[in-house]
Amino acid sequence: ARRSDGSGVVVIGLGRFGCHLAGSLTRMDREVLAVDRDPEQVQRFSTQLDRVVQADATEEGALRQLGVASFERAVVAIGASVEASVLTVLALTELGLPQIWARATSQKHAKILSSVGAHHVIFPEAETGDRVAHLIVSRLLDFI
Ligand code: ATP
Repeated sequence: ARRSDGSGVVVIGLGRFGCHLAGSLTRMDREVLAVDRDPEQVQRFSTQLDRVVQADATEEGALRQLGVASFERAVVAIGASVEASVLTVLALTELGLPQIWARATSQKHAKILSSVGAHHVIFPEAETGDRVAHLIVSRLLDFI
């Protein structure tokens, strides 16, 4: 059984980023509630994750029904649709989640996410690009 001590995480959007996040957290023994509006994605991850539910996360009422309000943390991993990501952060803010993480695809997107209540904004592609650049340069230095 996973911990249910308030360290659980709601992961919204099971695209490439969200599914890896949810899988890693599960392997780290965290309680994960995964949400995606696409029934095919839900089906696909239902054997790998403990709780995967189909819902439109922009609907505050749907999130409330799933018990999202009792979690301390949520990560909005939706990337392509700025509207869906912003409305989902807004719904989580309305539910009063203490720690909302959200993925941004641009600086403007990030600004909006912060202004509707995201506590942490992440840029997975930019951050990975930076990290790989540093790795490559540090390995190059090893050979000088
Ligand atoms: P990645 O790069 O991580 O693959 P992406 O940007 O290509 O992501 P998105 O279109 O952002 O993909 O979608 C990521 C996931 O979020 C999809 O599985 C999609 O079904 C889900 N999603 C999109 N909108 C909502 C929503 N309103 N409620 C719940 N899930 C959603």
